[in-house]
Amino acid sequence: MGLLHLTDTQQEIQRLARDYAQRELTPLAGERDRESRFDRAMITQMAELGFLGMLIPEQYEGLGLDAQSYLLALEEIAVGDATAAVTLSVHNSLPTQMILNFGNDAQRQTYLPRMARGEWLGAFALSEPEAGSDAGSLRTQAVRDGDHWVLNGTKAWVSHGNEAQVILCMARTDTADARRGSKGISTFILTPDLPGFHLTKKENKMGLRASPTLQIVLDNCRVPADRLVGEEGKGLTYALGSLDHGRLGIAAQAVGIARAALEASARYMTERKQFGKAIAEFQAIQFKLADMATRITAARTLLHTAAAAKERGERVTRFSSMAKLFATETAMWVTTQAVQIYGGYGYVTDYPVERHMRDAKVTEIYEGTSEIQRIVIARETLAAAAAADGSLPD
Ligand SMILES: Cc1cc2nc3c(=O)[nH]c(=O)nc-3n(C[C@H](O)[C@H](O)[C@H](O)COP(=O)(O)OP(=O)(O)OC[C@H]3O[C@@H](n4cnc5c(N)ncnc54)[C@H](O)[C@@H]3O)c2cc1C
Repeated sequence: MGLLHLTDTQQEIQRLARDYAQRELTPLAGERDRESRFDRAMITQMAELGFLGMLIPEQYEGLGLDAQSYLLALEEIAVGDATAAVTLSVHNSLPTQMILNFGNDAQRQTYLPRMARGEWLGAFALSEPEAGSDAGSLRTQAVRDGDHWVLNGTKAWVSHGNEAQVILCMARTDTADARRGSKGISTFILTPDLPGFHLTKKENKMGLRASPTLQIVLDNCRVPADRLVGEEGKGLTYALGSLDHGRLGIAAQAVGIARAALEASARYMTERKQFGKAIAEFQAIQFKLADMATRITAARTLLHTAAAAKERGERVTRFSSMAKLFATETAMWVTTQAVQIYGGYGYVTDYPVERHMRDAKVTEIYEGTSEIQRIVIARETLAAAAAADGSLPD
């Protein structure tokens, strides 16, 4: 029994994802990492289970799950393979949600059913080489030319950018006004068949090696005018708003990575013998396990409390950043402890914990670094304190 009070449906989704992850993901995760191999067949399998349409309503052929069910599934998938979880998190939290929430009827009808079925994988292109944390300073330009927009610029760090059929791209439409911030940036639906769309650098990463990360160059890329999402000039607001949701997904991924390291450590402690007994009998090692388990449970509880608030329609910017910050720093800490518990064997690729540690690191970086989460939490906390005359009961 866990601390979360789950409905029958939530337990069913959790079980489905756990069985799938244990059966299909865990056994080959190390091999995919060593070969830096994105596994399209794995995406097809997950699509057959409905995991590519978890947050897409049934009218567009998705499962229409609540936020908590989605996050429970993501955690289980991340226990099996963190790269599968990031693919699901980006696809489900960002491009599909942006089309659902801000797209028009025709865009929803065109893209969502095929994305729910997993025929089209979605990606998210906000970052640029010179615009990371400061996304509002992005430079890619979109200029209207008749019934097209012409895009020029470089998008960086696009997760599975070479595997995606639908890429939600933020570009500056108000090119006359160099003001930074949310004004003047719009969102476009790109597809790789567009003229002037080029995949360039594939990053050689420390972790998440089976999830390709691409640079995309847009060179006079002609995008039909009906690919503009929502209102012109609102693109950054849409992207940052969607990240409230995305950050919960990354928190779930981090909890899953940490749990994989905890489970591996618990097994190893009872098998490894030194000084004539299992290292599990040493209190110093037991205390590590106790702290790992406690932090993971705290992270999951914060995450699901934030998700439940989101489900009730509350604004969760502060709690979503808290969940992302705490869960990802927990994942980094827990995986580092796991390597320590394994000793020298933790430092080599024969065992999975060094991969968990490499995979955990990036969760503190993408969808807003830990520093950016702290900035958001401080800003939101100050605002909440001002609004509540200084008292902050929750
Ligand atoms: C594997 C991977 C996958 C990614 N996938 C995607 C994707 O699919 N789509 C996408 O759009 N982007 C993606 N990103 C980009 C990611 O979101 C950025 O890397 C991240 O936002 C940080 O930007 P940056 O790397 O430019 O670092 P910078 O913004 O240059 O930050 C460098 C350092 O300075 C700190 N810093 C910056 N500003 C402040 C400040 N105001 N106060 C205090 N400290 C500050 C940062 O916290 C960091 O420690 C991905 C990145 C990686 C590594």
